[in-house]
Amino acid sequence: MRKAIIAGNWKMNKTMAETKAMIAELAPKVKDADCDVVLCVPYTDILAAKRAAKGTNIKIGAENVHWAEKGAFTGEVSAEMLKELKVDYVIIGHSERRQYFGETDETVNKRTAAALNAKIRPIVCVGETEDERVNGLTEKVLYRQITEGLKGFKSKDFDKIVIAYEPVWAIGTGRTATATDANVTIGYIRKVLAKKFRGSVAEKTRIQYGGSMNVKNCKELMAEEEIDGGLIGGASLKADDFAYIVNYNK
Ligand code: PEP
Repeated sequence: MRKAIIAGNWKMNKTMAETKAMIAELAPKVKDADCDVVLCVPYTDILAAKRAAKGTNIKIGAENVHWAEKGAFTGEVSAEMLKELKVDYVIIGHSERRQYFGETDETVNKRTAAALNAKIRPIVCVGETEDERVNGLTEKVLYRQITEGLKGFKSKDFDKIVIAYEPVWAIGTGRTATATDANVTIGYIRKVLAKKFRGSVAEKTRIQYGGSMNVKNCKELMAEEEIDGGLIGGASLKADDFAYIVNYNK
């Protein structure tokens, strides 16, 4: 069976001192979690986060990675650099990256390959915008994001790849897809995985829901069969809220 994974996405929040304090507060609250617990933090917080999480069940991730080994890419960070920091996960293709920083399915594909080469687990984000949704394009958009973004990967790569289904209209807005809708859409993503890769890939790939997941809706969302976890933005910034979500089944 697929092990649930609850991951925080801190976005551009928290200094090193705040990182240390938050993880010290969080660690005892999540120590008995049945799921994988991950915090994806800004690059500048990674070292502090790794140190604070040492000896706990909290894994640390980054929020992006470049595909090139090295070179003239001012402001970017390579997979090798993250590997040296012993980063476990990396978010790729978040809708904010797609919207504000020109991320495409092609760059998602290249970044995912770089992460896998460095043995870092990619959390690949997909999801439709509000416009795409009202125009009935959700499945078409997801089909393209999955087939192009994950093109060329082998069955064994999906032991590491996590997919986050994040309807863009639900991110940071307080609006959430209903648990049933999220379940149906994630079921569709699984069908695409089965068609484009193979049935066993669809079976084993962990697919999270993301988009205003919080203490109020996490139990209902996590009770759905297709939903294997959450990618949590706002609610991952408070230790109590994030711990509550991580302990959704207690
Ligand atoms: C996110 O940033 O991936 C996210 C889901 O944010 P929020 O939980 O704040 O909607």
